[in-house]
Amino acid sequence: MPLEAETLKAAEILSASQHAVALTGAGHSTPSGIPDFRSPESGLWTKADPMVVASIYGFQWDPQAFYDWLRPLAKQMMEAEPNAAHIALAELEEAGVIKCVITQNIDELHRKAGSQNVLELHGSVRQATCMRCRRTVPSTELWPAFVATGELPRCPTCDGLLKPDVVLFGELLPMTTLVRAQDEAERCDAMLVAGSSLEVYPAAELPTCATQHGAKLILVNYEPTHMDARAAVVIHEDVAAVLPQITDRVKELRGIT
Ligand SMILES: [Zn+2]
Repeated sequence: MPLEAETLKAAEILSASQHAVALTGAGHSTPSGIPDFRSPESGLWTKADPMVVASIYGFQWDPQAFYDWLRPLAKQMMEAEPNAAHIALAELEEAGVIKCVITQNIDELHRKAGSQNVLELHGSVRQATCMRCRRTVPSTELWPAFVATGELPRCPTCDGLLKPDVVLFGELLPMTTLVRAQDEAERCDAMLVAGSSLEVYPAAELPTCATQHGAKLILVNYEPTHMDARAAVVIHEDVAAVLPQITDRVKELRGIT
């Protein structure tokens, strides 16, 4: 089916929905210049294995190695701007179509684009927590100095080591967020998956849960996923090109100018 027919079908599903949710992964932020750190092509694997360095064990064993690995990524996230796909989802939320964005990304770009109801399955770089006294520090007070000097971020109260509020390998997902995401997957009648290969738990299971509860699935991702056969619409294209087209169509169908 040509792309135009697919985007129209996706728009029709979203426009007719009562409770649509979006699920986004690393591919949603790559057009903003954020590398997918699980991908060997990202360049982040050349010096260190993130599965070791970016694990909770790696962090505790050698925090300097963790922060050395994080430094270029933190710089990219500090400077990154939302792309057209982030803006499209924020517009769909403002239009009352998308009720919630569930994301695997930690880069804050959905919030920067204006999305209000964001469930961050892997936490975010918005703040860091002291490993000693549990004080939280906003990253705006943290990243600029860290990116400039590379020195370990320390707690302003007790000088303990700060850990970004992101879920490292080997850590549990934030339970409240996970429960809310599963609840959204059960109650939604349409799920738009954008830029996720659906390979990592729980993102891999949320669309399954949604379809089991009767939701229609729209998949926009470069690569095929294990859910392609069960989706109502599958588009193997760039999210930043496709999502604005879908959003424009939804607005037309709903009479929003
Ligand atoms: Zn402290």
